[in-house]
Amino acid sequence: THFGFKQVDKAEKASMVAGVFHSVAAKYDIMNDLMSMGVHRIWKRFTIDCSGVRAGHKVLDLAGGTGDLAAKFSKLVGENGQVVLADINNAMLQVGREKLRNKGIVGNLEYVQANAEMLPFPDNHFDVITIAFGLRNVTDKDKALASMYRVLKPGGRLLVLEFSKPQNEMLTKAYDLYSFHLLPKMGQLVANDSESYQYLAESIRMHPDQETLKGMMETAGFEQTSFHNLTGGIVALHRGFKF
Ligand code: SAM
Repeated sequence: THFGFKQVDKAEKASMVAGVFHSVAAKYDIMNDLMSMGVHRIWKRFTIDCSGVRAGHKVLDLAGGTGDLAAKFSKLVGENGQVVLADINNAMLQVGREKLRNKGIVGNLEYVQANAEMLPFPDNHFDVITIAFGLRNVTDKDKALASMYRVLKPGGRLLVLEFSKPQNEMLTKAYDLYSFHLLPKMGQLVANDSESYQYLAESIRMHPDQETLKGMMETAGFEQTSFHNLTGGIVALHRGFKF
């Protein structure tokens, strides 16, 4: 593989992911804006528009990190609703909590340290679950999707926002150049950490493409699954329902 990443076993992957997010937490938001040239905001806006979240809903923002989606959901669900921002990484959760509190977003928002593979919530609990740029970091994705299915209410929906497969060759080439060459350099310059950003590029390449992820969601039990490509398929939003 690129950059000499060897095949790693499950425990190794989990601790590598923990290390990556621990070291990027403080610079995460600024790096997001830089690396995506601000476009991640548009991808997240689209996700919120597709979420169907309304007043009174219970929403789980899984792998929620620094809380961009959770902050928006907190406003949409209102005081009778509930938003849970769950992430496996305490450093990311702390940065998120600090940021949202400073914005005055409190009250209907809870922070839970949890692994997507073993969600500590009751069955049939949430109206909507989102996982944005999180699934690719999860070691056992099938297990995580099954866990999401379990805690989703019948009638509820899952939205997976994730890097995917660019849909044309020119774009693929430009994107490879960008993510394998420019991105680690930016990581080095801004966050003094090129390795984490090499991991990022690598994990994006290994992630299942649009059709594969759709199939995985169906295997976990989701119905009426579909996806929508964003920015030429660099990112895709997958949706599925539990009935
Ligand atoms: N959702 C946020 C966003 O879109 O800005 C954060 C995305 S960040 C790229 C990925 C997040 O996934 C990190 O905060 C990381 O700690 C979290 N994560 C990785 N593996 C996880 C797991 N198994 N369970 C829950 N969260 C996980």
